[in-house]
Amino acid sequence: MEQPITIALTKGRILKETLPLLAEAGIEPLEDISSSRKLIFPTNHAHINLIVIRGTDVPTYVKLGSADIGIAGKDMLLELGSEDMYEPLDLNIARCKLMTAGRKDEPLPQGRVRVATKFVNVARRHFAERGIQVELIKLYGAMELAPLMNLADLIVDIVDTGNTLRANGMEPRDMIAEVSSRVVVNKAAMKRKHREVQGIIERLEAAVASRQVAEVANG
Ligand code: AMP
Repeated sequence: MEQPITIALTKGRILKETLPLLAEAGIEPLEDISSSRKLIFPTNHAHINLIVIRGTDVPTYVKLGSADIGIAGKDMLLELGSEDMYEPLDLNIARCKLMTAGRKDEPLPQGRVRVATKFVNVARRHFAERGIQVELIKLYGAMELAPLMNLADLIVDIVDTGNTLRANGMEPRDMIAEVSSRVVVNKAAMKRKHREVQGIIERLEAAVASRQVAEVANG
């Protein structure tokens, strides 16, 4: 008998990129997740269930063991911490960058810099390492608006193409971290359900590797 495994998925953009990769790893929900209001989904493997939650909640479910495995953006892991979890695999999906950004061509003010972000822990560490005094302003969305409304001098945010910044008269400044989605595993589950967890990691690893081979082949 296989032990039950719960995999916590991050909803939104990451979910869209995760489901095809899970399918390539042979794990498929029995119903269409995107058109359902349910939160728990059985899969084609009787022992594997998927739950679909916010990225900020994935580390909590995995750390506390309510989910055995999670798929979360590295940005969330950097912000919320990854103690009590293993991070065995980079899925190489939902790639983007955590960056600072400011109004185009505008120098930083003298003295304390006001930084608006949803990533307050990442931002605190970044500026502390550089000896820059900051006032952190926690926001939950539309970070780009803060400098335009003179709520902040800088933001720390996710940047992909940079179009959102440019459309708002801003420019990227410092790179803080390369972001992609990672597999995280509860430490106790890794021991107690080793065979099942390891089986899933290996399937995902193979799916990631075969994509890389295809990418190289396609130039
Ligand atoms: P862009 O205009 O392409 O630089 O995209 C920037 C916006 O898209 C950011 O404000 C993010 O909220 C969002 N975004 C881009 N990539 C990701 C990702 N991999 N994960 C989460 N949000 C993202």
